[in-house]
Amino acid sequence: AHLDRIAKVDDKVKAFLHVDAQGALAAAAAVDAKRAKGERLGPLAGVPLALKDVFTTRGVPTTCGSRILEGWLPPYDATVARRLREADVVIIGKTNMDEFAMGSSTENSAYGPTRNPWDLERVPGGSGGGSAASLVAFEAPLAIGSDTGGSIRQPAAVTGTVGVKPTYGSVSRYGLVAFSSSLDQGGPCARTVLDAALLHEIIAGHDPLDSTSIDMPVPPVVAAARRGADEGVRGLRIGVVKQFDGEGYAPGVRQRFHESVELLAGLGAEVVEIDAPSFDHALPAYYLIAPSECSSNLARFDAMRYGLRVGDDGVHSAEEVTALTREAGFGPEVKRRIMLGTYALSSGYYDAYYGQAQKVRTLIIRDFEKAFERVDVLVSPTTPTTAFKIGERVDDPVSMYLADLCTIPTNLAGNAGMSVPCGLAPEDGLPVGFQILAPALQDDRLYRVGAALE
Ligand code: GLN
Repeated sequence: AHLDRIAKVDDKVKAFLHVDAQGALAAAAAVDAKRAKGERLGPLAGVPLALKDVFTTRGVPTTCGSRILEGWLPPYDATVARRLREADVVIIGKTNMDEFAMGSSTENSAYGPTRNPWDLERVPGGSGGGSAASLVAFEAPLAIGSDTGGSIRQPAAVTGTVGVKPTYGSVSRYGLVAFSSSLDQGGPCARTVLDAALLHEIIAGHDPLDSTSIDMPVPPVVAAARRGADEGVRGLRIGVVKQFDGEGYAPGVRQRFHESVELLAGLGAEVVEIDAPSFDHALPAYYLIAPSECSSNLARFDAMRYGLRVGDDGVHSAEEVTALTREAGFGPEVKRRIMLGTYALSSGYYDAYYGQAQKVRTLIIRDFEKAFERVDVLVSPTTPTTAFKIGERVDDPVSMYLADLCTIPTNLAGNAGMSVPCGLAPEDGLPVGFQILAPALQDDRLYRVGAALE
């Protein structure tokens, strides 16, 4: 049914870069066979899932939305993909994304933009716009994204879905093609908080193949989602981040956000204002740290190891082949990031840019620590505006970067974050996202609050 649905609507939505109909049907048949034999099946056995194209899938194209990986067939599954398969989840395809997860609208995909099913003239957010759009268009009931600075939560916000960035280190990055290794984290995308929780428990867990993976039990997020739905948030202390309100936020976003805060207060939560001055500097710090790590990570695309190779004609030198391939294979945003990062890391500028950004990162970690001494979770709008029009921000990178104003601090601190829908903005009838942030390894708090709001 989902494959039929994709065939019917995806030429308009363009959520998928690759639909693996054969693989999906074979996986579904395997689940049926297991069931027939009376074998034990996982809680999401047979449920179709759309996987962001930044996760490697064995023998199935993985492009990261880039021309430079065109034609590459990974010889291995990402740990996330492996865990999904082991849980009998059916991966139906790979979703569109900003090239190498750099962007906030999915317009930086080399394969054309994904459209927001709420209004096809608008963006579905990014970089994981394909995953979010596939849920709203009913092409898949579950999806996976990756969140370096907001790429799960911001698309969730502007499509009216649920998106979670788990604690850094809790979902393996093995096979998650690296953009900014100290920030990247895979996570669940779903239509409900409980669906996200069920998926979260499948993909999270220690992995010796990822050196930053945490060897600790996964917090009980499914139980927390059930508890939030049943009992609400009585006794929980909720901090409203002062820095993420006021000027620059759409009136409808502010209205729905504050209504939700009142709703939580009505459910028995204690609401306080939290001042986190360093959060004002998170965006510039991120746009030094992420490009710096990206400039190093993307050096591996040298035309020798993966996908595209340009100028391999016996005339050009190996160095020229690398240069020609990178020139043709990377899009403008990726090139901008590589140049920014290379500059920020170069001797003479390192202390002034990268070093300074790392200091800001420490201040952000401290502001979170201070806040979490007083409250159990922090809340804010997920993104300052609702979905913007396709083309509206493509020529102005800074206005595009602002879409992640509220999501970025969490990544810099390694904490957990969720976006949950909180109604439609009265001025345009488009979804608004409510962001919940919890300390590292307390992801269950997100689910309790999210489910209470749902
Ligand atoms: N939009 C942010 C960026 O362009 C975040 C991307 C992400 O989370 N992958 O870097």
